Amino acid sequence: MSFAVSRRVVVIFFGVILLGSAIFFYQKRALHGLPIEHSSLDMLAGKKNIVPVAIIGSGPAGLSAALYAARGGYHTVVFEGRAAGGQLMTTTWVENWPGIQKKMGPDIIKGLRSQAQTFGAIIASDAVTRVDFSSWPYQLFTEDGDSIYALTVIIATGAAPRLLNIPGEREFWAKGVTTCAICDAPFYKNSDVIVIGGGDSAAEEALQLVPYARSITLLVRSGKMRAAAAMQERVRAVPSIHVVYNAVPQRIIGDTHVTALEALVDGTLKTFPVEGIFLAIGHVPATDIFKEFLTCDDLGYLTHASHTQETSKRGIYVAGDVTDHRYRQAGVAAGDGIKAALDASEFLRDLGFVDAVAARYTRKLYEPSSGEQGSVALVEGTAAFRHAVLESEEPVIVEFFTENCPSCVQLLPVISWVVGQLGGAVKAVKVNATTNKAIAEEYAVAKVPTLIIFRDGKIAVRQKDPLSKRELLALVKQVLE
Ligand code: NDP
Repeated sequence: MSFAVSRRVVVIFFGVILLGSAIFFYQKRALHGLPIEHSSLDMLAGKKNIVPVAIIGSGPAGLSAALYAARGGYHTVVFEGRAAGGQLMTTTWVENWPGIQKKMGPDIIKGLRSQAQTFGAIIASDAVTRVDFSSWPYQLFTEDGDSIYALTVIIATGAAPRLLNIPGEREFWAKGVTTCAICDAPFYKNSDVIVIGGGDSAAEEALQLVPYARSITLLVRSGKMRAAAAMQERVRAVPSIHVVYNAVPQRIIGDTHVTALEALVDGTLKTFPVEGIFLAIGHVPATDIFKEFLTCDDLGYLTHASHTQETSKRGIYVAGDVTDHRYRQAGVAAGDGIKAALDASEFLRDLGFVDAVAARYTRKLYEPSSGEQGSVALVEGTAAFRHAVLESEEPVIVEFFTENCPSCVQLLPVISWVVGQLGGAVKAVKVNATTNKAIAEEYAVAKVPTLIIFRDGKIAVRQKDPLSKRELLALVKQVLE
């Protein structure tokens, strides 16, 4: 073999290796930073339960994203999660939602929800409990037991109320300690209460308590409030609200219910005799299930690219308070959601997921099943309660609620799903704790929602923390055994 021929063989050999490597790295990089080409849709072969735009969370960020994605023609599913509607559900009047002079937080959510649904967005009454973002298409696993392949994901999970982590907080949770004045204020008629925090939420909680409580002490840990000037003004105008600065909570004291709070005020320990403690000390981002796959900042918020909502992975976007510790406004969250939906649409276009192609997947798209739903009857008065609950042959799930309590509304589909699953083996009723004060007092209801399962006229289980469908089902099954 001549030298020229052997050189050609070597060149061809290395050429093949180079080409092979190029193809390998091209396919790999398709999911890490560069556009995914049409051929990537091959990865959907044999898969069902496909969702082109999967949105996790149903506050202003998630619903605005749903509006844009669905209007853009994409099959869009919103997994609304346990706290459907997000933080706006616990807000009363919102005066800074652009274009609207004044509107209740829950009404803003209601409007956004129905607007997104008008364009075809599907709102699943289900929560994503686990994700696998290690390869594309991304997988989501839900509380109802569904497993979904998402072409794009928009994370809009918001943030959960921060806790003090001081002695007594956990012990007296739902026995005087709460984070929701709009829900629980009616239990504190003529009582002395404390609100902890110096932001807009604390100011709002204090104002929500005014029609009920005798006195409201607002404990601010520093020398000034960070609430908007207008909110501070409103707080100062109410004689029953007393603001204490430089007050750092130390311990919550009580017997069967909260009786006092100890705080260091200007460095001296002081006891405040109170019956209710309302926490309004900010929120922590809900990122637990994503942390393993996506980059977070030092404060634990999911990060995104500087000019888009894209996270550290292609095709996954983030919107609202789960990524924003600076602005934390409903309007900003909505804007984030819109940007995330536009980013997701661009990704799908780059992928070649255009109308003609999407049509091929119609029968493989995910449609959440609503499941068998049972009824939750309203019970009014002690005679009706005795008949429906205490004399029932079947166990009865009782939800104590108050008007304007968003988490009470969120719990209803959970209860009716469980009743539906168990056929006639269990019944469910709801009792307004404000209009049925005697019943609420007899069963020591100091926070809503409070869920009690009765069997043979006695309390079998009492639940103060929010429950998922599966958790409540397991609890009821235990009672039935
Ligand atoms: P913020 O983060 O604005 O305020 C939290 C408050 O809690 C601060 O005063 C903080 O003190 C205090 N705090 C934090 N940790 C502790 C602790 N361990 N002990 C005692 N105090 C503590 O949260 P908000 O929930 O009030 O507001 C979040 C966002 O939502 C804001 O952007 C707000 O403007 C917005 N919002 C708007 C409303 C409206 O427009 N109607 C209503 C409610 C909220 P410090 O200042 O010393 O850090």
